[in-house]
This record gives sequence, C-alpha cells and structure tokens, in this order.
Amino acid sequence: MSQNIYQFIDVARVDPAKKPLNIRKIEFVEIYEPFTQQQAGAQADRCLGCGNPYCEWKCPVHNYIPQWLKLANEGRIIEAVELSHQTNTLPEVCGRVCPQDRLCEGACTLNDDFGAVTIGNVEKYITDKAFKMGWKPDMSAVEWTDKKVAIIGAGPAGLSCADILVRNGVKPVVFDRYPEIGGLLTFGIPSFKLEKEVMINRREIFTEMGVEFQLNTEVGKDIQMEQLLSDYDAVFLGVGTYKNMRAGLENEDAEGVYDALPFLVSNTYRVMGLDGNKDFTDMKGKKVVVLGGGDTAMDCVRTSVRQSATEVICAYRRDAANMPGSKREYKNAREEGVKFMFNLQPLSININEQGQVTGINMVRTELGSPDEAGRRHPELVEGSEHVIEADAVIMAFGFQPHSMPWLEQYNVELDQRGRIKAPSEGAFQFQTSNAKIFAGGDAVRGSDLVVTAIDEGRKAAEGILDYLEV
Ligand code: FAD
Ligand code: SF4
Repeated sequence: MSQNIYQFIDVARVDPAKKPLNIRKIEFVEIYEPFTQQQAGAQADRCLGCGNPYCEWKCPVHNYIPQWLKLANEGRIIEAVELSHQTNTLPEVCGRVCPQDRLCEGACTLNDDFGAVTIGNVEKYITDKAFKMGWKPDMSAVEWTDKKVAIIGAGPAGLSCADILVRNGVKPVVFDRYPEIGGLLTFGIPSFKLEKEVMINRREIFTEMGVEFQLNTEVGKDIQMEQLLSDYDAVFLGVGTYKNMRAGLENEDAEGVYDALPFLVSNTYRVMGLDGNKDFTDMKGKKVVVLGGGDTAMDCVRTSVRQSATEVICAYRRDAANMPGSKREYKNAREEGVKFMFNLQPLSININEQGQVTGINMVRTELGSPDEAGRRHPELVEGSEHVIEADAVIMAFGFQPHSMPWLEQYNVELDQRGRIKAPSEGAFQFQTSNAKIFAGGDAVRGSDLVVTAIDEGRKAAEGILDYLEV
C-alpha cells in the first residue's frame, strides 16, 4: 500500500474503542479494544514521515517510529516488530502504558492542529499481532560466551538488561522476590491498563531466548549478595523504589488508612489467583478517599471502583492542569465515576473511638507563583478547613528508595536521596562504585516511567558487555 500524503487531513486521529462502562466498572480487563489491521494501517498512514522526526527524539528509547508506522501500514508486521525490538525490549507494554501525550505523541508534528498519530496504539498493535502470528526473536546467530550475569529484579529495567545480554551470548539469571516477572508492570499497574497475560507471555519468550528466572527468591534473604558476586561475572541491580511516601498526618497509621502499593499488589494477587494473598484490602461498600494526583493515585481510584466502593474521591492539592498523572488515565477515571476534588490539602485523619478512620481534615489551597522549575506550589487558604468523610483513605504520594541492608558492605554509593549512583556516562555505562555491580531504572533515577527503566536496563547491559569485553 503506497502512502497517502494527505491522509492526515482525510482521516482523523482515532483512538481504539473502549469497552462499555458497565463492564469497565467491574472487570479487571484492559479497557481498550485492539485496533484492526485496517484501523492500524489508516492511523499509521497519517504519519508525515518528517525528515527529522521529533517523536523519535522525544521517545526515551528513540524508537524508529516513522519507519515502523510505514511497515505497519504496508502490513509488513514481522519486519515492523523486528525493527521495534532493535530499540525497545517491551514495545507491547510501552504501547499500553507510556504517557504518550507527554512523549512521542506530544512531539508529533500533527499534534496541535490535526491530532497526533496514535503511535502507542500502533506499537501495541504491531507486537500483539506479531505474537499472534507466532513471531519470536531469532536467536540463531547468537554466539554464546561463557559469561553469566545475575540480575536482581524482574521489572522493566532488569528484563531489558537481560534482553541485551542474552542477545549478545551472555547468560542472564534474573532473581525476583515475586512469583511472576514484570515488577510494577505485573504487581503495581492494574490489569485494566495492562493485562497480566502480557508479562506471562514475555516470560515464556525470554525463557526460550535463554534467560533464566529464579522467582520467589529475595536477595538478602533467600540468597546472599556475596554468593551472587562470587558465582557471576557481574551483577545488575534493577530493584526499583519501594518506600511508600507519607504525609506525616496525625492518625495516618489508623485502621482504614492504606499505602497505595500494598493495596494494588494485594488486588493483583487476587486477580491472578496467586497464593499468599493474606492481606487483601477490599473496598466493597466503602467511601474511599485517595490522596495524591499521580499515576498511582489514578490506579487506586479505578481499582476501588472495580471493587464496588460506594463512592470514590481523589483529593489533590493542586488543580487538574497541574496533576502529574497521565491525562488519559484521569479522563478514564472520571468516566468510571471517580469524583475529583482539587486544591485540597489533608491536615489530619479523623478516627472514632475504635481507632477506625472516619474522615480527613482538609484545607483549601491556591496555587502560588511558579518556582525556578516552573512548578506552582499550593498555598493554604486560611479559614477554609473542613472535613471529608471516609471509611478508607489511600495514601498515594509516591515512592522513595527503600533501604537495602544486604548491599551495604559492597561499596555501592548512594546519593543523598538514597538512589544508587550509577552514571550514564563514564568508562562503563551505569556502573556503580563497585566495578562488578551495575544498576538502572527507578533505583537509580527515582520512581519514573516504564520506558526510562527499559532505556537504562538496555544501556547498563551495554556497559556490562564492555566491562566483560564481550
Ligand atoms: P520495578 O518495576 O519496581 O521492578 C523492581 C523489581 O525488583 C521488582 O519486581 C521487585 O520485586 C524486585 N526486587 C527488589 N528488591 C529485590 C530483592 N532484594 N530480591 C529480589 N527481587 C527484588 N510508568 C509508566 O510508564 N506508565 C504507567 O502507567 C505507570 N503506572 C504506574 C502505576 C503504579 C501503581 C506504579 C507504582 C508505577 C507506575 N509507573 C508507570 C512507573 C513504572 O512502573 C516504574 O517506573 C517501572 O516499573 C520501574 O521499573 P524498574 O525495573 O526500575 O523497577
Ligand atoms: Fe511512544 Fe513510549 Fe512507544 Fe516511545 S516507547 S514510541 S514514548 S509509546
């Protein structure tokens, strides 16, 4: 099929259809229907093929976007998927969960006047379709070395590191404390954004490629760092950030106050039918207030809706325009019945005689002038204190690096915020202050995005290959 250069005028940007609201409100399934070949082709054909594609530069892994859009339009799916894997380890995941409005699609030349090309959904379409066609990475040309690398963490950083290593003949053995791979892709991000089968399929693909997984294995508890350092040629740390941030509110440890991640993880265990789900937190019949305005807060409100909470409120201290979460997911949450209350800051948690949460003392805020980074800080409005009633409160204020006593004696330097120091530049990319240990993803940059973790995992693998002289 030849390119129609006026397609962007003739054909509007179309996002995939969403499932009906009555299903979305109760089921833990992806809300978007897949593109058909015809839809994916028509949308891909809207690409102008810009000589200097801004989308490609804005994409953290610098995907060859115009090229694979063209291949998708021509129905050359296997060539498209091969090309997309040259820069991205998990394109089907990025297509689903990247905040495209801030990344590739935000930079698309058509964005302002005609609507950006639906890059993310075509990326997802290509990979899903290729898997359905039986595509698997071709490993026949790999020349195996005798080197092996231990990877701690099967999140996107660890998996991407393993991907590049195994394609270069180095054996990766990935350790994770969870029973399935994916890290936050599996246990943090709910199935209505990313169905669990996606990572189960990837585990099978990676295993066939030669990646070994040792799941249900926590480093520092089930296996020691010392053993990994003596048994392997290098170690990669892709351990994420798991310390839940709190606001320091009075009564924030009361019954009925929950941290976001344990709430989401317990729900995923239930959805996946996994054992060991002793702490399932059920919001059925409750009035739930989620504090925060990022991706995690959006996932908590939408999970509460699906658990049949009677009312779900998201309270955020800035306004809608200044919310850090994806605009797409904010819109989806509103459609699903979540009520948003902006410019509100919590002061303390109210409890009853039994110590159970009854509400939150709130104060209204106004946004002050922008600081040096352009961010407007909320200022409290005197005399505006009031109470919002709640049966359950979920704290979704983000994450900080967790402490890792098992790493302390190995000379791995941390910065002031507890992030692992692993510079992207230097003799070996993403090497820590211990020459044999590399790191990447959230543990290095602080909690961020799937695609940036992928980027760092891949680059760290290049650093490891140089270090091992492979
Ligand atoms: P992780 O994904 O956290 O993986 C780290 C892995 O290390 C985990 O599996 C953990 O079990 C394992 N581990 C840690 N310590 C040990 C140990 N001692 N032994 C064995 N295993 C260990 N990003 C987006 O781009 N889009 C989104 O829509 C989005 N939504 C999000 C929603 C939520 C609720 C959260 C919390 C985050 C979201 N993010 C999103 C951010 C994104 O998920 C992370 O930035 C990304 O997963 C970081 O990847 P990582 O590999 O560095 O760490
Ligand atoms: Fe866009 Fe993310 Fe895909 Fe890059 S990886 S093209 S930013 S959806």
